[in-house]
Amino acid sequence: MASWTVLEEQTVWISPRATSFTVACDACARSVAGDGYGAAVVAGTLPPDAVRGWLVCARGHQLRVERDGR
Ligand SMILES: [Zn+2]
Repeated sequence: MASWTVLEEQTVWISPRATSFTVACDACARSVAGDGYGAAVVAGTLPPDAVRGWLVCARGHQLRVERDGR
């Protein structure tokens, strides 16, 4: 099982044509569970020709964005 001591890299997948999207930051979802799911939502954009990118949530966690191109 994954350890709590290291924040594992998060990868979120978006649909092939998505250029703007919202995802939930797992790290926030765990640390702010009392505030509800909405507190962990991150909005992002990705140019249509980009296959991956990065998001930083409101609390500074990095999320890798991968476009599901298959
Ligand atoms: Zn976060």
